[in-house]
Amino acid sequence: MSALSDKARRIEAILDELHPAPPIPLDHVDPFTLLVAVALSAQTTDKKVNQVTPALFARAPSPQAMRELSVEEIHALIRQVNFAGTKAKALRRTAEILCDEHGGEVPASFEALVALPGVGNKTASVVMGQAFGEETFPVDTHILRLAHRWGLSKGRTPDEVSADLKRVFAHSSWNKLHLQIIYFGRSHCPALRHDLTKCPICSWAASKARIAAESRGLTKPKSARKRPPRATPS
Ligand code: SF4
Repeated sequence: MSALSDKARRIEAILDELHPAPPIPLDHVDPFTLLVAVALSAQTTDKKVNQVTPALFARAPSPQAMRELSVEEIHALIRQVNFAGTKAKALRRTAEILCDEHGGEVPASFEALVALPGVGNKTASVVMGQAFGEETFPVDTHILRLAHRWGLSKGRTPDEVSADLKRVFAHSSWNKLHLQIIYFGRSHCPALRHDLTKCPICSWAASKARIAAESRGLTKPKSARKRPPRATPS
């Protein structure tokens, strides 16, 4: 077994201990409501999305009901999320396409999903994984940062990092690890400077050079970094 596989197994064992059964953080009841929730979560916290979706899903629990609403009505229901105007237009158009081209259902096909307005690789992967049970490894900002810190990937884009993670972790663990790493990042990675030597994973998985650089303050805390360019679709 390579050193990288060994490291991946150790990381997975720690994540299994810390987050044995990570729940899906976005409230939903079926593939359509999951697709909508994930689309709304771009550049918006899951908590905010979960505050908005009960009223939205009460009015539009299905593509058929969503297409009955005007863009303005959808916008009024989701105005608390970022980019509400763009997302309202995309949701309305998505509902039309689902009704006209997919029999009113969310297609269980990655290619068909990324063809929907505002749906990129990450959203399609989340829906394929969490609604249809396909093992996928969507990469958000937490996962991208931690894959770098843990020395599992040098990829520059979410797609490159996802490909690296798929190489080092067993296929059957991808969906679980996607959620576990997100929860680990949320619970362990502070906004301000922190001590890598006290972290259950970075303390042994990060390179000595990175630990030394961070302890000398040579790398910026995440709160001080420039935000990555907005990626829509997500
Ligand atoms: S050292 Fe910091 S960035 Fe690395 S996993 Fe731990 S808390 Fe997160």
